[in-house]
Amino acid sequence: MSRFESLARTLTPSLGTLTALSMLAACGGPSMPDAVAYEGVRLITGDGAVIEEATVIVQNGLFVAVGPSAALDAASAGTQVDLSGMTVMPTLNNAHFHLPSERAARTAALQSAAYYGTGSTFSFGLDEGTIGLEMRTESIPDAARSLSAGRGITSPEPGRSEVPYWVTTETEARAAVQELASQNVDIVKIWVDDRGGQYERLSPELYGAVIDEAHTNGIPVTAHVFRLQDAKGLLEAGIDVFAHGIRDMDIDDEVIEMWKARPEVVLIPNLPGPGVPAGEMSWMAGTVDAERIAQMESNQGENAAAQEAFGIQARNLVRLHAEGIRVAFGTDGGNSWSVHQELADMVRAGLSPADVLVAATSTAAMVMGLEETGTIVVGKSADFVVLDANPLEDITNTRSIVDVFLHGTRVDREGISARMLGG
Ligand SMILES: [Zn+2]
Repeated sequence: MSRFESLARTLTPSLGTLTALSMLAACGGPSMPDAVAYEGVRLITGDGAVIEEATVIVQNGLFVAVGPSAALDAASAGTQVDLSGMTVMPTLNNAHFHLPSERAARTAALQSAAYYGTGSTFSFGLDEGTIGLEMRTESIPDAARSLSAGRGITSPEPGRSEVPYWVTTETEARAAVQELASQNVDIVKIWVDDRGGQYERLSPELYGAVIDEAHTNGIPVTAHVFRLQDAKGLLEAGIDVFAHGIRDMDIDDEVIEMWKARPEVVLIPNLPGPGVPAGEMSWMAGTVDAERIAQMESNQGENAAAQEAFGIQARNLVRLHAEGIRVAFGTDGGNSWSVHQELADMVRAGLSPADVLVAATSTAAMVMGLEETGTIVVGKSADFVVLDANPLEDITNTRSIVDVFLHGTRVDREGISARMLGG
């Protein structure tokens, strides 16, 4: 029996269980007949706490009781599910992602994200048209939530994506923000990068105007950044979120001081490939066909230039984190499985698995403005992942997914897998 089948069976009450339940009901019975108690788990709450022997009770899509098994009455729930030996953690929140702009493809991407344990995604500035904006409020079965920056704003970058607004004057910059505000985007995305000298980067005058206009409209701003010098300018201009780490050099004391003066500013590190073999990739077999996996496995090797670039960002991430700067989580690229590589890369950079899981759950939810998710505490949406290995011991254990639940409902991972591999 596969792990899927085994848990599916536990979740479907057998006839015997139903009889037992009705008998219970006859003599008073559980006080929450429609609730489900998940018992005996190692619980990673998402805000830094771990309970080794916990019970989590879910009702109407919400966590209604969470705590040590000894302190909770699992029998108050109509159904009990024994998850002894399993680890339960909040679903991941991908705060820098890119989704397709076409409905069917976007739906598939959100379902694939859910397959890999992602509960929410933030599409950062390359959404064309209005479908991405519309789909934010739709309830899509077996799919992660989505937020959108709509179209981002940059200086003209001929040859790159033509989706963003290309602005060259303050008037154009403010007009772009006003249009985005009228579309109720969740954040304004800007790019401040000369792409290795190819373009004129968005000037401080222009990004200053964007940030000012966005804040006037109550919208936060996130920046794609490359250079330390631009990061300082952006901090001065009031940036809210860095969509990337600083990549051109090791950071200095000055930027630390500037950042600490604005402690609400969040870093989404978005590390580059580490330039080392990623190991076997069979954990992607649920959505990626064997031939492609073999190809990806054979393509990887040592890459000195990538290792050097990774080293700069890794050192900068560790230093900012040590200085108390808020670190969130995002993958940038559109592959649904890359969340697990990014988690491992953040640990490789030098953060602890525990800190990385906080970044990828509660802090990422915070930067996305999603109050309903990100932690496993009473009152939050029941968005959680069941793992059969402990990611606090080895971060790659986030790949050992047994089940994913969103809004208290089990995600149909078998169905998603069949569609992705069949299509
Ligand atoms: Zn991006």
